[in-house]
Amino acid sequence: MTTTTSTMHEIFERAHRVTPGGVNSPVRAFGSVGGDPRFIASARGPYVTDVEGREYVDLVMSWGPALLGHAAPEVVAAVQEAAARGLSFGAPTVAEVELAEAVRARVPAAEKVRFVSTGTEATMTAVRLARGATGRDLVVKFAGCYHGHVDALLADAGSGVATFGLPGSAGVTAASAAETIVVPYNDLAALEAVFAERGDDIAAVIAEASPANMGVVPPRPGFNAAIRRLTTEHRALFILDEVLTGFRVGPAGWWGLDGVARDGGVSATGSEAYTPDLFAFGKVVGGGMPLAGLGGRAALMDLLSPSGPVYQAGTLSGNPLATAAGLATLRLADDAVYARVDEAARVIGDAVGAALDAEGVPHRVQRAGNLFSVMFGETAARDGVHSYADAQAQDTFRHPPFFHAMLDAGVALPPSVFEAWFLSAAHDDAAVNRILEALPAAAQAAAAA
Ligand code: PMP
Repeated sequence: MTTTTSTMHEIFERAHRVTPGGVNSPVRAFGSVGGDPRFIASARGPYVTDVEGREYVDLVMSWGPALLGHAAPEVVAAVQEAAARGLSFGAPTVAEVELAEAVRARVPAAEKVRFVSTGTEATMTAVRLARGATGRDLVVKFAGCYHGHVDALLADAGSGVATFGLPGSAGVTAASAAETIVVPYNDLAALEAVFAERGDDIAAVIAEASPANMGVVPPRPGFNAAIRRLTTEHRALFILDEVLTGFRVGPAGWWGLDGVARDGGVSATGSEAYTPDLFAFGKVVGGGMPLAGLGGRAALMDLLSPSGPVYQAGTLSGNPLATAAGLATLRLADDAVYARVDEAARVIGDAVGAALDAEGVPHRVQRAGNLFSVMFGETAARDGVHSYADAQAQDTFRHPPFFHAMLDAGVALPPSVFEAWFLSAAHDDAAVNRILEALPAAAQAAAAA
């Protein structure tokens, strides 16, 4: 099953001597699938190539940013041009203004935007801003949602915290944990109960726009709108975390599909319209460079320093190389790009389902726009997956053999069952066909588990 080779193994051992766990972000370590991670030498379009020269069709895509495919020539050129003019100034640039304008053009409710370097900083700042704006301390989050490694938001988090089966993190103070209330996802009655009890102390509810860090678990139609209603009633803020979904599932992210009314009054997902107070952005907005941001109503955003009392800063915030990559990416990400990503996701999602059906493996392909993931098990197949408890109850043991069979066939899936599969506009017929060809053997491996 394992594809370990000596070169890769040696590098991983060398990495272990100088880096905790041999990696700089936990899920990269193949902890839940076993074997040695691929050390990547280069990437282009839908492919990554490891240091041994082996090429894979990539379904990780840097965990989201590479919407256009890896190393899109126009994006690389924009970064090279920016690099030639200087790597970092610690002073404002026109490109930062242009990128904020580009974000606002797509998400008008993000009237003002502050750029930071990581999604973690974006959500951390959003929480601080919410506390500063309301004078309240409590934050409500949902089990299985991941918002970066912010102390207050690590309780019952998704992504690596879910992959490694952790309740949270060591090193988070009891005081910090006590200021976070965790509610089951998609459970409106539980959220209402929390507001009935503590409503006057709640600064904000933060939710992934459509969760994808416990696998893909979309909100029930109207769930985000209900969060909006409750938070408004209790004068708490609603922070919509679009770090993963923003500019990926559509031009205006999940909110564009879920929160914006079309003709007939309801949104594309069948929800009533809603507008959060704050958005967190990341990944695609930085085009593969370290850039993220938060946006919202002007009056609220103006509480940030230097115009307001809520402090926030960053040496590399709005970095010129990162803003160049983000701007080039957003300029290129037109309707045709989203149509291509949507279509590739539909074809591959359907094919995964058919391959697993053919082998009698009970499963559910969970979808949210062009994001999808596979949940194994009878219950998932019958009822779908609506919460972190549902996601944890799946047959996780089927994922490692499925993952390794795909890897052996030259397809790199996310190395955790709690992550979404990411596609790009560069996944052309050749790349998609390689995935389709790999699926039957992987489904057999999952069936044999
Ligand atoms: N929010 C969500 C929804 C995410 O998916 C992530 C990262 N996967 C983050 C926040 C944190 O972003 P970063 O890793 O850039 O800190």
